[in-house]
Amino acid sequence: MSAQNVLNLIKEKNIEWVDFRFVGLSGKAQHISLPAVEIDEDTFVNGVAFDGSSIPGFRGIENSDMVMMPVTETAYVDPFTAHPTLIIMCDIFTAEGERYDRDPRGIATKAEEYLQSTGIGTDAYFGPESEFFIFDDVRFETGMNKSYFEVDSEEAAWNTGRKEEGGNLGFKVPVKGGYVPVQPVDTQQDIRSEMCRLMMEAGIRIDRHHHEVATAGQGEINFRFDTLTKTADNLMKYKYIVHNTARQHGKVATFMPKPLFGDNGSGMHVHMSIFNAGSPLFYEKGAYANMSELAIYYIGGILHHAPAIIAFTNPSTNSYKRLVPGYEAPVNLVFSKGNRSAAVRIPIAAVTPKGARIEFRTPDSTANPYLAFAAMLMAGLDGIKNKIDPRKLGYGPVDKNVYDLSEEEKKDIRSVPGSLDEALDALEADYEFLTAGDVFTKEFIENYVEYKRAEAKAVSIRIHPHEYALYFDC
Ligand code: GLU
Ligand code: MG
Ligand code: MG
Repeated sequence: MSAQNVLNLIKEKNIEWVDFRFVGLSGKAQHISLPAVEIDEDTFVNGVAFDGSSIPGFRGIENSDMVMMPVTETAYVDPFTAHPTLIIMCDIFTAEGERYDRDPRGIATKAEEYLQSTGIGTDAYFGPESEFFIFDDVRFETGMNKSYFEVDSEEAAWNTGRKEEGGNLGFKVPVKGGYVPVQPVDTQQDIRSEMCRLMMEAGIRIDRHHHEVATAGQGEINFRFDTLTKTADNLMKYKYIVHNTARQHGKVATFMPKPLFGDNGSGMHVHMSIFNAGSPLFYEKGAYANMSELAIYYIGGILHHAPAIIAFTNPSTNSYKRLVPGYEAPVNLVFSKGNRSAAVRIPIAAVTPKGARIEFRTPDSTANPYLAFAAMLMAGLDGIKNKIDPRKLGYGPVDKNVYDLSEEEKKDIRSVPGSLDEALDALEADYEFLTAGDVFTKEFIENYVEYKRAEAKAVSIRIHPHEYALYFDC
């Protein structure tokens, strides 16, 4: 879509406002709206100025002028505004006209350019499965004498529809019993269908949707894979539509990885493959799981650098409350065909030349998709370049349920980091592979670590409700 196409769309849809968006380090979209009558060809050449100093992790006030440069092919009509509005995702540039090196979308673009520069392939495809909860209302509060959000608590029961005002209508989903039941147990069929319709109208190709494993109100919508930056753009659209559709129904959707203690959390498994000019590079008939050596090395890179890239794929303190045994979230750094307890799974049901792909199961949707996908690609490419063989480094394959292995069998298996701080330590110790082709700069990593350390600290210095249960009567 060219600038002229966008201008035509503005006319054709009677657009009143054009909403320019970008994504900062937090992974949350931010926006500024301009009257559509003021938009012309120049807007796409000069961009839209904003104050970078007010965005956490961006610039200081002494050097704050930044510019959003609209990416025309990302334009879509906002389905939620009363005043017809066109949304356009932007890249961030400095006032001097250079790509801003802390712009996550810019980093995603550079990762794709780096892939092409290596000669390994032309396109990296990404397909995320982003899970979420839709709650009826948020009754939880933290603090003394308040139960926190434990799956068996009163608060959780109200929120997940296991308690109803005005009579109990039965058909309740038990803890971990939510995987694909039909209605009336699944109370969210229509709301997910509506989300999908809005996503399709916004240009996303939908594969399917379903209720997820947890107690009640956990859902997943799968959309068609695409190249790295396009998929990250689609994920931003996806989250916007999920949040706002729930809101319109008087409910609240959250992608928080572990909102309920004692039940499954919400992950964002990411499927990946590399193609060269239309030819798939991950398939080799007759090899283990029909995966090529190149794919195995890509897996090697992911597993070898996993502790470091997890600082991007699982960047919240809450992420590590999901990565615990027993809830289908991976804990062990091994690969496997089919096995959902491994961090890297090869979905064998899908192994055809074009469908051959790997699934990294660790990520969750607190990830900034631009940074997380770029970090995963860089790790995988490093594996290919350096022929990192996961079979020789103790990363499997393990085709049994890893949770059922004996202590002896498990003793050499490495685990994911146990906290955000541990992941940040790992990133500080292992980031050179990310700086290849200047995709991530050293300065970016240092700034990111500092930004995230502050977040971890802010959580750790606060009094946790469970501390009352443990210590109040001491
Ligand atoms: N909710 C699980 C997780 O946290 C995944 C369930 C599934 O296999 O889709 O990763
Ligand atoms: Mg799922
Ligand atoms: Mg999956």
